[in-house]
Amino acid sequence: MFAEILYPKIVDIPSVSEELRGWNWKNPPVAPLLESIKLGIWEVTSRYCATRYDAYLHRVLKVSPRPTKPMLLGRVVHDLFVETFKCLKKAILEEPKSGSELYYILTSNRKKVVAHTLERFPTNLVDDISCKLNSLYNHLSLQISADYDRLMVEAPRIARPSIADRFLTISCERPVDGSRLGLSSWLMVDIYAPPIGIVEVKTGPLKDFHELSLSGYALAMESSEYAPINFGQLMYVYLNNGIRILRKLVRISDELRKEFLEERDKLMEILYHERDPGLPNECPESCPYYFYCKDGKV
Ligand code: SF4
Repeated sequence: MFAEILYPKIVDIPSVSEELRGWNWKNPPVAPLLESIKLGIWEVTSRYCATRYDAYLHRVLKVSPRPTKPMLLGRVVHDLFVETFKCLKKAILEEPKSGSELYYILTSNRKKVVAHTLERFPTNLVDDISCKLNSLYNHLSLQISADYDRLMVEAPRIARPSIADRFLTISCERPVDGSRLGLSSWLMVDIYAPPIGIVEVKTGPLKDFHELSLSGYALAMESSEYAPINFGQLMYVYLNNGIRILRKLVRISDELRKEFLEERDKLMEILYHERDPGLPNECPESCPYYFYCKDGKV
């Protein structure tokens, strides 16, 4: 699982039109409709609210969302994943000779990492999830260590130090400036691991629009760093009935780029004109505005 982040088996690199690279930020279709609005990636790509009434509530009516339990659970899992990778980078600096040494270093930090992750969450959630987070941390440590061992054994002796170097190239919560594209100047990529690029951690069911987030980050990175991003990965983490992690490699194709840019401009247009987009036919109970829309305030 982990080795594939660093050493992906890529056979088919997408051909991307020059006009749809982020570095074409001065020209359409990459140039934003407006300079005055800066959006988060999640604002552009979230399709839980089909009409984008959620963005209207947040930006125009200034209603604060109320995070729901599934959202908090998703956030805590995401944070633990990122903290584990941060811990991995520190562990690599200790130059472990084998996977078992790496595993020992990682697991000796488990209590600290889990406690640090849970600090930011409400106590009732902490009681529910603490045990699962400990299991997730152990699972990730085991997977990472097994991959490390395999890479060390398979690599020619001369190449072994470069494996540790490769681990150190991983960035966790890497800031990206998306302002040239009408996005926030402080976007945060969960994990950035060249050459694959962006890794986003998700919980819950697979949704098509998760791929759109990857294309948004890719465009933003290209606009600020002028380096091509052709791929991203989605990591879906499930904690019920044992731990399961699904990995999905995504090609940041022309279609995905166009779709992201169109969504961005559509949302900007709604916000600029303060146009009420109306309510969708269905509302998921996990929506952070459910309390507002469904409690008779609309
Ligand atoms: S409750 Fe429904 S209308 Fe309100 S923001 Fe959520 S999905 Fe949209």
